[in-house]
Amino acid sequence: MKISMVSEHASPLAALGEVDAGGQNVHVAELSAGLTRAGHEVTVYTRRDDEKQPDEVTMPGGYRVVHVPAGPPRYVPKDELLPHMGEFTRFLSSHWEADRPDVVHAHFWMSGLASLMAARPLDVPVVQTFHALGVVKRRHQGAHDTSPAERIGLERLIGRHASRVAATCSDEVFELVRMGLPRSRMSVVPCGVDLERFTPQGPAEPRDHRYRVVSVGRLVPRKGFDVAIAALRSLPEVELVIAGGPQEGRLAEDPEAQRLLRFASELGVADRVRLTGQIARADVPALLRSADVVVCTPWYEPFGIVPLEAMACGVPVVAAAVGGLTDSVVDGVTGVHVPPRRPDAVAAAVRKLLSDAALRDAYGIAGSDRARCRYSWDRIATDTFRVYERVVPAAALSEETG
Ligand code: UDP
Repeated sequence: MKISMVSEHASPLAALGEVDAGGQNVHVAELSAGLTRAGHEVTVYTRRDDEKQPDEVTMPGGYRVVHVPAGPPRYVPKDELLPHMGEFTRFLSSHWEADRPDVVHAHFWMSGLASLMAARPLDVPVVQTFHALGVVKRRHQGAHDTSPAERIGLERLIGRHASRVAATCSDEVFELVRMGLPRSRMSVVPCGVDLERFTPQGPAEPRDHRYRVVSVGRLVPRKGFDVAIAALRSLPEVELVIAGGPQEGRLAEDPEAQRLLRFASELGVADRVRLTGQIARADVPALLRSADVVVCTPWYEPFGIVPLEAMACGVPVVAAAVGGLTDSVVDGVTGVHVPPRRPDAVAAAVRKLLSDAALRDAYGIAGSDRARCRYSWDRIATDTFRVYERVVPAAALSEETG
């Protein structure tokens, strides 16, 4: 099948951990590589955010990335990209008129908008994955939500007009149904994890005698790193390592990093909190393996790849019971669910795990088994392809195979 992925702000080439680069970038990159391994032809369209980027790049995974000129060729926060989606759409239209894909898979709402406008005149089906929903963001962030006012209404429209919505977890399905979208046109396909990179065996970052809790993610308030910091008050023997954000040398200029460090000082735990800044993808497994427990305490989380990465490394996870974490982490089997924004519950769960090495091992083994059985990118690519098969007319497929 000839597949066009559209991911307007999240490029497979981006460094992960900065404000707008995280799980969606991983998803688009790994899914594209998985579909390419399965014999499909995949092109990813993403906005050019650096003038030095070439028009096209062939990635090591064998798929193509096309840089779409839309807006200034520099970083623009994703919440300011909507005015450039007309230009993005015109580029897609001209590409697809010349070389029609069998299916378009749009990632995030603005990609959905551009994809539907460009694909519908050509009668190309569009599968939509939202990755995050405006209604959820508004609920949790209120006045701090910087999304364009049009987002929520447009997401409903995109959901109605897409051929199918591929949600990443069951909680997202509930949200979409609450938005009035028909369950019959949704499938659930989770994100996956790179099982060659994230393994229980392999080097672990050196550490001292203290217990270590690790948290990884973009340094944005909703990731709830402050919940993990507050939990340290009643875990005197534990150090907390937080990875993500800008590179270490630039943490002093990062408002969220400074806020977290101030908070740690106020609580008297600053000597046990270390912010590493952004870490290269290749170094994430060693950091996770160095942890006794990985803590993921977001206020809300559309999917959350980090808990899967921790599970794949054989490390137990204490996870807020929100969004995708309620599907991926199995309470009492691969980790512990805690209510969101509850440092006391996080501390109790971590304390229980630290006091019982056998329990940590059991959760770790179960987590790595679960990651291997359910979340390989090859499996996710196969499941995603089944969604495409439901929307691509059989005639189009038999023409190619015949
Ligand atoms: N990540 C990384 N380096 C960092 C911080 C994060 O490689 O310094 C990776 C992390 O390992 C994971 C992704 O970025 O693969 C974050 O994805 P997740 O779904 O957990 O969160 P999102 O950023 O999408 O909210």
